[in-house]
Formats: sequence, C-alpha cells, structure tokens
Amino acid sequence: MSVTMEKIVSLCKRRGFIFQSSEIYGGINACYDYGPLGVELKKNIKDFWWKSMVYDHRNIVGLDSAILMHPRIWEASGHVAGFNDPMVDCRQCKARFREDEIDPKKLAAGQCPRCGNKDVLTEPRQFNLMFKTHMGPVAEDASQIYLRPETAQGIYVNYKNVLDSSRQKIPFGIAQIGKAFRNEITPGNFIFRTREFEQMEMQYFVQPGDDIEALEMWKERRMAYYDKLGLNMSKLRFEEHGPDELAHYAKAAFDVEYEFPIGWKELEGVHNRTDFDLSAHQEHSGKDLRYFNDQTRERFLPYIIETSAGVDRTLLACLADAYEEEQLEKEKRTVLHLSPAIAPFKAAIFPLVKKEGMPEIALKIYDDLRGDMNVFYDAQGAVGRRYRRQDEAGTPFCITVDSQTLEDQTVTLRDRDSMEQLRISMSALKQALQDKIKGE
Ligand code: ATP
Repeated sequence: MSVTMEKIVSLCKRRGFIFQSSEIYGGINACYDYGPLGVELKKNIKDFWWKSMVYDHRNIVGLDSAILMHPRIWEASGHVAGFNDPMVDCRQCKARFREDEIDPKKLAAGQCPRCGNKDVLTEPRQFNLMFKTHMGPVAEDASQIYLRPETAQGIYVNYKNVLDSSRQKIPFGIAQIGKAFRNEITPGNFIFRTREFEQMEMQYFVQPGDDIEALEMWKERRMAYYDKLGLNMSKLRFEEHGPDELAHYAKAAFDVEYEFPIGWKELEGVHNRTDFDLSAHQEHSGKDLRYFNDQTRERFLPYIIETSAGVDRTLLACLADAYEEEQLEKEKRTVLHLSPAIAPFKAAIFPLVKKEGMPEIALKIYDDLRGDMNVFYDAQGAVGRRYRRQDEAGTPFCITVDSQTLEDQTVTLRDRDSMEQLRISMSALKQALQDKIKGE
C-alpha cells in the first residue's frame, strides 16, 4: 500500500505532529504549527543536519543572521527586480496559477488546468514573492523592508566577518538554519509549499576553478546524508536544471528530488552560484569583499557552492518514507519507521499493570533516562494499545516493567520494527538504548 498525503495529514493532526495554524479562527491558508511530536521531529532533523554539516567538517562554521536585513541587500541580490513568479488568472473560474506550472501540452490541447478554457486566461503578470513590511512607526516607502525569502544572503553579507573572526581559509563553508518567507502564488500540498518555512543552507566558498569539483563533492555528500537520515534511496534522484531553467545567479544547478506521495518534487537545491552574489554585494555596498590568499598574495572573489534544503520538506519526506500500514493477524497497525536519531521519543516506558510497585519502578527508569534522551511514560490502558500508540509516533523502543522485574530487575525491550522483545537488565538499559540510537 502506498501512502497518501491524506493519511499523513490525518496522522499528523491525530498524534500532534502538525496542526493547521490559527485553527480556532477558521485557519490561515498554508500556515502550519508544529505540535509536541512535530517540534521534536523538526528539531532532531535540524540537529542531524547541523551535525553532518558543521560538526562533521573541520572547515564549516555556523551562523544565525537576522530575518530583517537592510533592504539594499535584496536589490543587490536581484530579488527586488527578479524574484517574481508569472501569475495567471482564469477569468471564468477565477482559479490562479503560476504560468510556469501550467502544462503546455494541456494548454495546447485547449485544457486550462481547472475549467478547461485557455482563452479566458489573463496575460501573465509578474508577482514579487517577497513579503513587505515597515520598520519603525511610519509606513512610508523609505522605511519599507522585507522578510527574507532565503537565508543565503545573510551568509554572503557576513562572509568577511566570519572569515576574519574564525580564521578559516578557503575552501570553507558557512551553515545556517532559519525561517524564510515567500508569498507563494500557489502554496499547498500540506507543508510541502508554505509561505513561512525553514531552510538549512550551507554556502561553500572556493577558489574560482575549484567550483566544478566542489559541486560534485557536495552532490555526493548530500546524497550520503539522505541515506544516513534513513530515506529510501530508490526514492531520491538528482535533476539537473537545463540552460533555460537556470536561476539568474547559477552556473549549474541540481535539485535533489524525492518521490513524495504527490510525485517527484524538489527537496533541496545544490547550486554553483559563482561569484554572482559576492560581486553584487561588493558593487552595491562599495566594500572590498575579496579574499586574500597570503601564500600567493592574490586577491579574488570566491565562488560559492550552495546546498539549500527545506526543513519542512525534509520532515514531510521523512514522514512519507516512514509511514506504513501493516496487516497483522488480527489487526492493522500504523507504524512510522523513523530512524532512531530523529524519532521524537527514543523510548516509552510502561508498567504492565498499575499495581505491585510496577509504576514506581517504571517512573524511576523514566526519570533516569529523561536526562539523556526524550522518553515517554504511559500507564493507561492495555499494553498492546500502548505499543500501537508508540508505533504511530515512531518511537523505536518500548520498555515494560512486569512481574519478573520484581524478581530479577530485568525489563522487556521491544523493537518497533520487528516487534520482537528481549529481556534486559535494568542496569544495562541506558547503554543499550544509547548504542541502538547511534546505530551500533
Ligand atoms: P520551488 O521550485 O519548489 O518553488 P525553489 O527552487 O524556489 O523551490 P529554492 O529557492 O532553491 O527553492 O529553495 C531551497 C529549498 O527551500 C527548496 O528545495 C525547498 O526545500 C525549500 N523551499 C523553498 N520554497 C519553499 C516553500 N514555499 N515552502 C517550503 N519549502 C520551501
């Protein structure tokens, strides 16, 4: 059975991963809130990315730049003039489209996407995707600023600061995770395309001429990362942008695509941005942004290889990849086979029954594990149902205190995927869990 978007949306709401934003006021289109399980999953995905980019590389450092920036940054970057989508309206059914998303074959056959009439489409109008707001109390043109539509520019304008303070030498990278905002014309498909989302971006600064090799290196590393994250590699592929699809800043661009329930879609972009951004900022700011190579005594603007992934899209890919409905002998179980590294709870602890001192022992285990990992305690209902609830939440391990525990200080340790249970001594529990979570 292949997973549908409806099933994911329903599980997310039911179990507290993701809620419609402002739900009690009727909701706000394409905005979502992450609930108790969702916030853990999202945080774990961000930590996983941060570890694989920053901690696993000697030459990558982190940054957290402000969302609000000098408006001239967006002039220099080309966003004020060019971050537009061509918007087309249907005069008949009032549907709104991105012209580049209308299938030309369908249009040629006289089928407009919804009402089927191409003659009633308006001419495309360029619509700038940046959200505008005002800084300070007076809403006048001079105070207009933007919510950043990508985190990358915060890295470019800080590159000299980072270089001077961290004593990195080329090649080196700057990584950042943060919110970005785009006034998308056609948001939708749950958290796949929203107007407020989070990005995980790493910009890698290299000597011009080393850019082609660096792009290849990052393509390989990014695929290895998705493998480690636990995604099914047969659902991942690269798509290269053709010359007519390349963004204004890019010399070469590859999308990492994932086969979502809605089809193959972009998950991440790996781009060779050349010195486009640094030379634009150098020109607009009047500041010398060249890198000085103290061995060759040369000054030059580095080329930049960018890896830009969406947090929310990665989370959606992880959920879709992990979701399974399994037919057991007597019942169906819904299970999320999330990798232990990103699962919201690493383990759940149950007393088999609420008597004979079992809850006290289970709570002691819970308190002991809590300092080291996110765990859950549950004493309500039949133990089989408690297992099912944890399967749906993606909890990889369940620990049950039963009557044998009272005799020999062992507990059962149940594995989510195989559903097998083994007995383990309470004193060896924490280490065993830590090893399993690390994949040892
Ligand atoms: P698309 O073609 O889907 O609009 P894009 O090519 O404009 O995306 P980039 O500007 O390369 O996307 O952004 C990098 C990453 O940020 C994307 O691969 C995606 O994971 C994420 N992203 C971009 N726009 C959105 C959005 N509106 N909602 C959620 N994630 C997004």
